[in-house]
Amino acid sequence: MSNENKSIHEFDLNLICEYFSGVERQGPGSPEVTIKALSFIDNLTNGSYIADIGCGTGGQTMVMAQNTPGHITGIDLFPGFIDLFNGNAKKLGLQDRVDGIVGSMDNLPFKKDELDLIWSEGAIYNIGFERGLREWRKFLKAGGYIAVSEISWFTKERPSELNEFWQDAYSEIDTIPNKVEQMQNSGYVPVATFILPENCWTEHFYVPQVAAQEAFLKKYADNKTAVEFIVNQQDEAQLYDKYKEYYGYVFYIGKKV
Ligand code: SAH
Repeated sequence: MSNENKSIHEFDLNLICEYFSGVERQGPGSPEVTIKALSFIDNLTNGSYIADIGCGTGGQTMVMAQNTPGHITGIDLFPGFIDLFNGNAKKLGLQDRVDGIVGSMDNLPFKKDELDLIWSEGAIYNIGFERGLREWRKFLKAGGYIAVSEISWFTKERPSELNEFWQDAYSEIDTIPNKVEQMQNSGYVPVATFILPENCWTEHFYVPQVAAQEAFLKKYADNKTAVEFIVNQQDEAQLYDKYKEYYGYVFYIGKKV
């Protein structure tokens, strides 16, 4: 299975971008989970600076902005997502506090010790969990927080089919205690971790994709890459349904030592 199940990274990025522009979230999550993670952050004021890295079209950023003071910069590699992001901020009247900019997480435009909070939902895997934690740390003030969600194993052992799929797609997937240790070793006090509930994958992620998939398949019926991409998305959703007791997304919240 793992040989046929190509990881998302191998497909044409513009097609992926178009597909995900049609849904509110580009990764598993929910407003409730964003608010829960925010509840562990206690240093924010109107003067705070927050970065949301790999923000996508800003589903979670807008929820943050409505539930926390301070200025938020969303940053994403895809200009199409950032256009939608800034449109969403404007629609909600948040444009004075929320800015979307195009950029890459491996070359962030922030200054040393500038940020009070670094946020990243379902995106740090693009640079790798440990590398992201280590490289982004310098942008945080002492006592600043980092809050990221990351795919993780719930159990020490798991079926080989599942193991192979994820080793191929993202070999840095690991157990929660190992991720917490990595956070500690990267210079943070691990403040909290919690598992995202199942509805973050179903109701908020895979279900909205069904309509997007139909529209996409109609438009790109003759495009082999597009069809393969949709099949890949569907396989991933099925894999989740079959093996959800073994893995999922976990929020990791740390404080810069
Ligand atoms: N945080 C959003 C999006 C998660 S999907 C949500 O939870 O809905 C992952 C996001 O990371 C995508 O928007 C993708 O465009 C972005 N991304 C991928 N590589 C990146 C990079 N090198 N720098 C910045 N963003 C990147």
